[in-house]
Amino acid sequence: MIGFNIPPCTGREEDYIREAIASHHICGDGPFTKRCAEWMENRFHTEKALLTTSGTSALDMAMILCDLKPGDEVILPSFTFSSTATAAVMRGAVCVFVDIRPDTMNIDETKIEAAITEKTKAIVAVHYGGVACEMDTIMKIARRHHLLVIEDAAQAVMASYKGKALGTIGDFGCYSFHETKNYSMGEGGAILINRKEDIERAEIIREKGTNRARFFRGQVDKYTWVDVGDSFLPSELNAAYLLAQLDQADAINEDRLGSWHHYYEAFQDLKDRVTLPVVPEGCRHNAHLFYLKLRDLSERTEFISYLKSRGVQSVFHYVPLHSSPAGEQFGRFHGEDRYTTKESERLTRLPMYYGLTEADRMTVIETVRSFFGRETS
Ligand SMILES: *Cc1c(COP(=O)(O)O)cnc(C)c1O
Repeated sequence: MIGFNIPPCTGREEDYIREAIASHHICGDGPFTKRCAEWMENRFHTEKALLTTSGTSALDMAMILCDLKPGDEVILPSFTFSSTATAAVMRGAVCVFVDIRPDTMNIDETKIEAAITEKTKAIVAVHYGGVACEMDTIMKIARRHHLLVIEDAAQAVMASYKGKALGTIGDFGCYSFHETKNYSMGEGGAILINRKEDIERAEIIREKGTNRARFFRGQVDKYTWVDVGDSFLPSELNAAYLLAQLDQADAINEDRLGSWHHYYEAFQDLKDRVTLPVVPEGCRHNAHLFYLKLRDLSERTEFISYLKSRGVQSVFHYVPLHSSPAGEQFGRFHGEDRYTTKESERLTRLPMYYGLTEADRMTVIETVRSFFGRETS
């Protein structure tokens, strides 16, 4: 079976983890955490990067930093992972789902403004598959209405929009380093703090509501409980694994993009039968995933089982949140669901991971083509 994902491993991970153990510093915020954070700050040009225990906890932190009060509203797409919504719901906020664009599967920026009410506090831009949302428009709308913008860039590490790294454009950017993402630490993530004035509070929230970070910098002579917070620090063992990945960030990115383009070229003549991913002008994606959109749900079901019977794993993605039990309870869909349900039912993903071999790619390509009765030359 050619699996859908194999977690990335570059070779240095074990050395780094051994080094962390030998240094007797395995809790959070040691040398490996610092090196990962500095790597991101330098590479992506953000004021502050803070490692977290997951992409979900990065979103949780971002929603706390937005100062959401019960009854406030957060605008987001329904075609996303539950974490995007649950972070808002944990603060007592209501999710207002807006339809997606059929080309990128991202929130439709032209439908956001109509969903804004006096209770709206924030917009979450989810960059699906590492392809950017239309950020210029989203930022303009947000500034006009005094809203905060959170980028759920869980899938978008190393991707960019008009030359800016995804995660650095909104007020807060949230990355995931889960084993299914392009760069991994097992479970983990990071929040990018893009405005200087939010850094101190972010550090406090991440450290159980204490001013411990200031204490370690010698800015206060004892540390104390000053705000709400949680334990958002990952262990040095996880950070050590991540650093080995970040060391190889370009190699991993190029390897994935190579696989992506191989698929993309190989399916050009299937465009009468399937819809291929769209990457708008100005967006540089990171080959987080490669999807095909079939005619409808029933053809997709047939396609997935055809591939499975021939040893290729293909998996569909989100069931729209507004039609899930919690989505019905905690949110509402604004406007018409023109594309969210229809497009999500057509979409399925092909095997895509760092180190996917050319032979396996060829098998995937031949199998997909044979489903449509096409030979592979
Ligand atoms: C993976 C993912 C998350 C959650 O990240 P975890 O690290 O698994 O908590 C959130 N949003 C999106 C869009 C994701 O793909």
